[in-house]
Amino acid sequence: MIQLRVGDLKQFVYCPRVVFYNYVMPVEKVPTFKMEHGKIAEDKIDRLEHRRKLKKYGLSGGEREFHLNLYSPKYELSGKIDLLINTVGSYYPVDFKYTTSQPHKNHIYQLLGYALILEDIYKCKVNRGFVYIIPKEDAISFDLTDDLKGKAEILLDEIRDMIALQQMPAPANSRNKCDDCEYRNFCGDIF
Ligand code: SF4
Repeated sequence: MIQLRVGDLKQFVYCPRVVFYNYVMPVEKVPTFKMEHGKIAEDKIDRLEHRRKLKKYGLSGGEREFHLNLYSPKYELSGKIDLLINTVGSYYPVDFKYTTSQPHKNHIYQLLGYALILEDIYKCKVNRGFVYIIPKEDAISFDLTDDLKGKAEILLDEIRDMIALQQMPAPANSRNKCDDCEYRNFCGDIF
């Protein structure tokens, strides 16, 4: 089975071609301003988050682990999670986002990817996760249902098929997504 990363799931939902280019036609990428800025902001939030309480997540207590490398043998899926909260056997993935808008569908699939890995590692149910919006200092909660996790599993299969068959997928479903895309020059067929 082709090993995948949680980031692949997120990118595939954003635009399947991004994953295609990463695996089938690897090219050198130049980090965008947004990526660089996001990294600096994440470093800052790490420092602040270490001092914060878990109340903002609606949790009364628990342990926090930052930047944890995770791997699921069952799904052959890996990822480095921004924050994992553990409250006596319940696990909550948290992803930090530097954005002023609400989380999008691809961010939720990133949480679903972490949920699949955590369920495999800890043999438990992971039914909730959070996207932490850095500029607003707000933790938004998402239900990670079995139905959604099933959809994430189907997408992992689709990604593996796409890579194995080396089939160029359809472009992003909105041209707005292409504005900041580092692969814009490779999608000559749509511009
Ligand atoms: S330019 Fe648009 S269609 Fe092409 S990879 Fe980027 S987001 Fe996808």
